[in-house]
Amino acid sequence: MKIDILTLFPAMFEGILNESIIKRAMEANKVEIHRINFREYSTLNNHQVDDTPYGGGSGMVLRCEPLVSAIEDVKRKDSKVILMTPQGKTYTEEDAQRLSSEKHLILVCGHYEGFDERIREFCDEEISIGDYVLTGGEIPAMVLVDSIVRLLPGVIKKESYENDSFTNHLLDYPTYTKPYDFRGLKVPDVLVSGDHKKIDEWRERARIENTKKKRKDLYVDKE
Ligand code: SAH
Repeated sequence: MKIDILTLFPAMFEGILNESIIKRAMEANKVEIHRINFREYSTLNNHQVDDTPYGGGSGMVLRCEPLVSAIEDVKRKDSKVILMTPQGKTYTEEDAQRLSSEKHLILVCGHYEGFDERIREFCDEEISIGDYVLTGGEIPAMVLVDSIVRLLPGVIKKESYENDSFTNHLLDYPTYTKPYDFRGLKVPDVLVSGDHKKIDEWRERARIENTKKKRKDLYVDKE
């Protein structure tokens, strides 16, 4: 998979692209990730990318021309262009799974007051990471990169994510590690019994109980 991130602040991605699982996935050629500063596509003096809104009002609005030129420059036949916006569809694990089978993602990060409405015409999909407003689309783009790349074949073991929360509309089961007794809080006996059939049954029940307790909405969805 190839991911192109169109952003005015490429340095914001240093952390996520240079640490841990995403870095290893890039080194192993499981994914190719490029940051493109669309300021370079501006044809105005001093590479201006924004301007005041028609009709007046506060804040600066991203102009169509640099962003659309950048999209058109990197776009291929099989690309999916995703606009990061609080007005988009709320992102879920299902979207991460769906997008993980795409060949080429182009993530468009807005900034300032937002972008010229006409930019929407040049994108295939609009995604929000939740009902709150951030200063830019960079953190939302990082959320997509992280959640998608971990699902790519060979990045992490399938067993590591097949029971993860939100898979099959359930949350994950509770997990424990050493010590057995932490300040009087003990690990459930079944997990130290060595009986793998019982452990599997306990985990399956625990996923259901966990979901009913913490996220009834997910469990009801399943009915
Ligand atoms: N005035 C706009 C918000 C602008 S925030 C509005 O109310 O709709 C600036 C940029 O940050 C947006 O263009 C978008 O790219 C990004 N952004 C902010 N919150 C976001 C969210 N919840 N999900 C995805 N992108 C978001």
